[in-house]
Amino acid sequence: MLILRPLSSRSLLSRHRSFSTTLVQKMKVIPVEFREDNYGYLLIDEATNKAGAVDPYNVPKLKAAAESAGVEIIAAITTHHHFDHAGGNKDFAKEYPNAPIYGGSKQVDAVTHIVKDKDTFNIGDTILVKCLATPCHTQDSICYHATSSDATNPATGGVFTGDTLFIAGCGRFFEDKTIVYNGHEYTAGNLAFAKSVDGDNPALTRLEKIVNDNKITTGLTTIGDEKEWNPFIRLDDEGIRAATGKTTNIEVIDELRRMKNHFRG
Ligand SMILES: [Zn+2]
Repeated sequence: MLILRPLSSRSLLSRHRSFSTTLVQKMKVIPVEFREDNYGYLLIDEATNKAGAVDPYNVPKLKAAAESAGVEIIAAITTHHHFDHAGGNKDFAKEYPNAPIYGGSKQVDAVTHIVKDKDTFNIGDTILVKCLATPCHTQDSICYHATSSDATNPATGGVFTGDTLFIAGCGRFFEDKTIVYNGHEYTAGNLAFAKSVDGDNPALTRLEKIVNDNKITTGLTTIGDEKEWNPFIRLDDEGIRAATGKTTNIEVIDELRRMKNHFRG
């Protein structure tokens, strides 16, 4: 899989990450910045130059991104019904009337295909997208796990998470090498919070370097990284338990969420 630079004015500041294995280069992901901290994505099957548009919030920007990448948009893939993710779907339906619009419930604007847990669909000839219901951030939140049929290890690929935090199990579904494509650029704030509750964790030094070196951090980290540095999936960690003053996982996560809501860097 090859990840190109995001198509945005800040692209010069972001890093290019690519994989050397030619076998996995049939799938390409391009982040598209739709608002200040909001990402959509083009998920491209390089064999056919067909693309799925993940959370196509701003259709003119999406169209421009597709044109500059030389790909044809054939579907919209909606992570959940919130306006900053599904708010472009009606425009999308007008611009691409024949393209299916996938989403987790009829609350998703203009949805044509309501997907359930474990449903699958294809983008082009080589990309398989598996839907994983993660009713956490919203009841209709779906994580979309995209893999290429040419990948040497079909369990990796990338996962589009929207606003779903990796709490209560989302992370368990994926291999450690799966790349994370989230819906917003909140990494710097998340890092500051993680340092406040888990300051001795050496993985946070690595995350800090990624944040300092990259304006856009999506697509640069994996599920395995999340397990090392995301306090919300490190509930058993003694330091995190001490920081919350709680002992059971449910209490720890409730307290972390409360602390995060009130956290002011
Ligand atoms: Zn949301």
